[in-house]
Parts: sequence; C-alpha cells; structure tokens
Amino acid sequence: MDKTMHTKLLIGGDFVAGQGDIEDILNPATGDVVVKVAEASLDQVQAAVAAAQKAFPVWGKTTPRDRATLLLRLADAIEARATEFARLESLNCGKPYLAALNDEIPAVADVFRFFAGACRTQHGQLAGEYLPGFTSMVRRDPLGVVASIAPWNYPLMMAAWKIAPAIAAGNTVVIKPSEQTPLTTLKLGELIAEIFPAGVVNIVTGRGDTVGSPLISQPAVRMISITGDVSTGQKILESASKSLKRTHLELGGKAPVIVFDDADLEAVVEGIRTFGFYNAGQDCTAACRIYAGPKIYEKLVADLSSAVSSIKMGEQHLEGVEMGPLISERQRSRVASFVERAASQNHIEVTTGGKLGNSRGFFFEPTVIAGARQEDEIVRREVFGPVVSVTRFDQVDDAVNWANDSEYGLASSVWTRDVNKAMKVAAELQYGCTWINTHFMLVSEMPHGGMKRSGYGKDMSVYALEDYTCVRHVMAKFE
Ligand code: NAD
Repeated sequence: MDKTMHTKLLIGGDFVAGQGDIEDILNPATGDVVVKVAEASLDQVQAAVAAAQKAFPVWGKTTPRDRATLLLRLADAIEARATEFARLESLNCGKPYLAALNDEIPAVADVFRFFAGACRTQHGQLAGEYLPGFTSMVRRDPLGVVASIAPWNYPLMMAAWKIAPAIAAGNTVVIKPSEQTPLTTLKLGELIAEIFPAGVVNIVTGRGDTVGSPLISQPAVRMISITGDVSTGQKILESASKSLKRTHLELGGKAPVIVFDDADLEAVVEGIRTFGFYNAGQDCTAACRIYAGPKIYEKLVADLSSAVSSIKMGEQHLEGVEMGPLISERQRSRVASFVERAASQNHIEVTTGGKLGNSRGFFFEPTVIAGARQEDEIVRREVFGPVVSVTRFDQVDDAVNWANDSEYGLASSVWTRDVNKAMKVAAELQYGCTWINTHFMLVSEMPHGGMKRSGYGKDMSVYALEDYTCVRHVMAKFE
C-alpha cells in the first residue's frame, strides 16, 4: 500500500486499526479502489469519546497562548506536506490536483492560523456593578467534548473548519470524516498526534448510521457540529433533543445569482463558469441558480453556454484540467436524473452538456439549462453537481422574491454596476452570505453559515469561536 495512505483511527494519541466494517475508498476519476479503510467499532467510538473526555480537564485549562502555539505548528506542518495532502485529496475526491494544492491546502493552513490568533483575542468582560457592592463578569469557557461530522466535498477543509475553532476554544474533539473521503483527515491525524497532547483530537471513520449516530449520542458529548445534508441535520437534531446537546448545523444550499441588465457580462460569465462548476458543482454555495434581467438574458445564456462548453473535464493530474468527476456513481446518477427530468419539459433547453462523460469514472458534463422557471425542480432542489439553471426575470421584485423563495439560505450573489441597487438587494436577500459582483470567495476572518434549512451556527471567524464556547456569568461580592 502507498505509505502516504494512513488508514488507522486516532484514539487517545494512538493509531489503531478499525475493528468495524471495511469501506472501499475509490478514485472517482476511474472507479478503482485505492485502499480499504476499516470503520471504527462501537467500542472504538466509545473509547474515542472517553479519550477526549479524559483530555479535556487539562486541555480546557491551557492558556490561549499555549493553544495558539500548537495550532501554528499544525498550520506549518500542513503547509510543509502540502503536496502530499493535495495528492491524497485529489485522488480521493477526484478534484484537480492543482485546485487542491493551490486553493484548498493554503486555505486549510490559514484556518488553523486564524484561530491561533483569534483565541487570544477572546475574552469575557468585566461588566461592572449592577447591584451596589456586586461585581459581575462574563467568562467564555469551553464546553467539553465536541463530536464533529464532516461531508465528502472538501474533506480536509471541513476537518479544519470543525477542529480549529473547537480546540482553539479549549474543547476536545472526536471527528468523523465522510466514509467516502477519510484519507486526508486520517493523514492530518499523523500531524495532530505529533503536535497535540493525546486525546485532544480523535478521529474515527465510518458511515453515519454505524459510527456517526453512536458517536453523537454518547452522553459525554456536549456539542455536535455537522456539515452535511438537511436530512442528516434533522436526524442529528432528533438525537440531540434527547439530551439537549448544543448543535451546529451547516447544511445544504441553492445559491441564487441575480444578474441585472447593467452587469459586466464578461465578469458574470467568467464568475459563473468558475464558481458554478468549481469542485464539479459539489459545493453548498455553488453559483447554480441564475436569475437574469430581460435585456441581458439571451446574451448571457449564449456566452455562458459557450464558456461552459470549454471547461476541461478530466482526471486529476491531466494538464489544464479544470473539473473532475462527481464523488460517486450514486451522485452522478442523481445529477443525471435531475437533468433528464428538466430536459423533458418543453420550456427548458439544455444549451450545453447534459450527458455522462465518456471516460471511466463518475464524470458528468458541465451543463447549462436555459428557460427554467421558478416552480421547476431544477430551480428549487439542490443538485450538487455541475449544473446551472438560468431563469429570466422582468421586474427587480421578481428576482428578489424568487431568490428568497427557497427552503435554503446559505449563499447568494448580486451582479450590477449600480451600487445602490446592489446594496438594497443585498439587504433584502435572506442568506447567510451575499456577494456583490463576485461569488464563492470565503476568508477565515468572516463567518460562513446559513439561514432557514441551510442550518445555523457559523464556521470560521470569531463567531465560530463563540459557537464553541459557553457564556457564563460570575458575580463577586466585595466587602
Ligand atoms: P451527508 O449528510 O450524507 O453526510 C455528511 C456526514 O454525516 C457524513 O460524515 C455522514 O457519514 C454523516 N452522517 C450521515 N447520517 C448520519 C447520522 N444519522 N448520524 C451521524 N452522522 C451521520 O452529506 P454529504 O453527502 O457527505 O455532503 C453533501 C451535503 O453537505 C450537501 O447537502 C451539501 O450542501 C452539504 N454541505 C454543506 C456545507 C455548508 O457549509 N453549509 C458545506 C459542504 C457541504
């Protein structure tokens, strides 16, 4: 076996072979099994939680400076092995190697660096006297053991978004990566074991029902943080309701992109070509639901279709490759069936793409669907694939109402040269994030998270640190 493929669980600082079911880990670009990973058994899930619980009293009392020092060392170690991480991530997810290397790994290191600094700025407040002779203060304390559940689209990035704020705030963590994409999280475990005290971060692999579900229901778990599907978030809430655990839910999305007639068409086309199809559209913020003004609609559809047809699809390491396959055959047939149902409607035209790729693996052509209407399934449901729909609007109010007429509320964008219009529409959009004349860009300093069925809780930024702490009031009486 390739020695860069670390497949053991990390429990209490030790690497242990999983004792549960065996999971085939595939290369989505070929469908080949690249390695087999054994899931954690129930005993191992319990041992991981016990290890996190044991580590908490000491870790929770470390100073922000101590924690920051280790987080910075981890960021450096990730960067030093950037090519290894990028190779594994692209192999396991099918994404282009250079996208993993140049976009994702630096962002992962930056998240750890950000929280190293941010935890040193977190403080309670000396809030003064509200009763004569009594001094009140507010403390922010860690919660204890956090169970983190991650999806398959950006495995290492999601691990960073979950682990960094939780441990920076003084919690300990048991993380379960997606059963389909555990490799980079397990590899990260090697670095964590070298840098952090035993038990601060534990990693268990496996499916949601066999490993995720028992993990979140352990009594010692104080908080559950999940990025995943809405239905998974609902199951997690049901489980958490029994013991009233704190939950942090980052769920699906269906990002609207409002393009006004006065927008810079070239920038719009380039933006949607890039941000609608990045990671083969398997992104909860993907620019996938376009509403175009009456004067720009025809040209936008024509130029976008031509631009999207030029996206180079292929295996991870091929020169110039811009888009890889979908994660699995299951995901590909789901995407294909969305497109098939849309194409069967008379008012819809598939202007480019719409077919399975020719090569081995789970490829689906980058696809543009024109003439879509607000009530159409392709406009309303999360496809999570390389498919963008374009809908024409006549009135500004329609564009805003249609954009908001969604069960999701994660990300959105507005494209116009009129700054007043941009700001007015941005204020009206019911989304956790609104971009103006861009889309998709995230920074560690700013919060990422949704409204409505996209969930609640923020990743990145000081808001994430706050999510992973509890606010406590301490009142002192002085003579
Ligand atoms: P998923 O919900 O199928 O799985 C996510 C994780 O939950 C996996 O690790 C899975 O094993 C685990 N899981 C499943 N059932 C569980 C249960 N009953 N108990 C505990 N854990 C369980 O999602 P996915 O297919 O891996 O990822 C795609 C979804 O994630 C999309 O809907 C996408 O929009 C969403 N997503 C959201 C964000 C965000 O920031 N809001 C980011 C990335 C992905």
